[in-house]
Amino acid sequence: MSWRASILTLFPSMFPGPLGQSLAGRALENGVWALDAINIRDFARDRHRTVDDTPFGGGAGMVLRPDVVDAAVASVADDRPVVCLTPRGRRFDQTDARCFATGSGVVLVCGRYEGIDQRVIDARGMLELSIGDYVLSGGELAALVLLDATVRLLPGVMGAADSAVEESFSAGLLEYPHYTRPAEWQGRTVPEVLLSGHHAAVAAWRQAEAERITRERRPDLWADAASIHRAAQAAS
Ligand code: SAH
Repeated sequence: MSWRASILTLFPSMFPGPLGQSLAGRALENGVWALDAINIRDFARDRHRTVDDTPFGGGAGMVLRPDVVDAAVASVADDRPVVCLTPRGRRFDQTDARCFATGSGVVLVCGRYEGIDQRVIDARGMLELSIGDYVLSGGELAALVLLDATVRLLPGVMGAADSAVEESFSAGLLEYPHYTRPAEWQGRTVPEVLLSGHHAAVAAWRQAEAERITRERRPDLWADAASIHRAAQAAS
């Protein structure tokens, strides 16, 4: 059984979209993972196929009806977590991606307009996740972001087996900078140590760069990494 993502959306043609390309696309073709995009509108009960209505309490916009969304979720629900993409959710991160990648898949519910009636989010015990502090016009792009981050961690999706281990956020640090040929370009050279062939020196330089960049750019991550390091030292 392959890892499976079920997307509930009013715009199923947005999927797989960019995930049909490159590594994720090849893995999709090869059956490493599967995707079904389900149209929420198929679960509307009236002849106009209505999925939304005006908000109780007044105000602008429309809200997706709980009964329609619930029927759509019921059509795919199994043991997979049901995630509701919303700017009100906890921030999705690499730890979530790793966690989803170890399970059997996810069900992703994409909002539109003002969002989804809170009662179906609560009744289904949905995990509310945001991809960042900005407002998109729909959950579809957020679902694609979550899936891209997760699917590349599935066994057999990425090329080099260890490239997921070393990269940004894996050790709580941002990654060191990369360089390739030509060794001199527009008068710019590459750090000499990288040309030295001295593996231990290269590793030390990369570690120092990762620490410097994390300290400068993300003091929040740096503080977390430092406390994890202290805890590891205390335990050993
Ligand atoms: N009125 C809402 C915004 C609705 S945006 C509010 O102010 O909170 C419409 C839909 O886009 C949402 O239901 C959600 O599914 C999706 N969406 C928008 N921004 C998002 C974000 N940062 N992360 C995840 N989903 C988002």
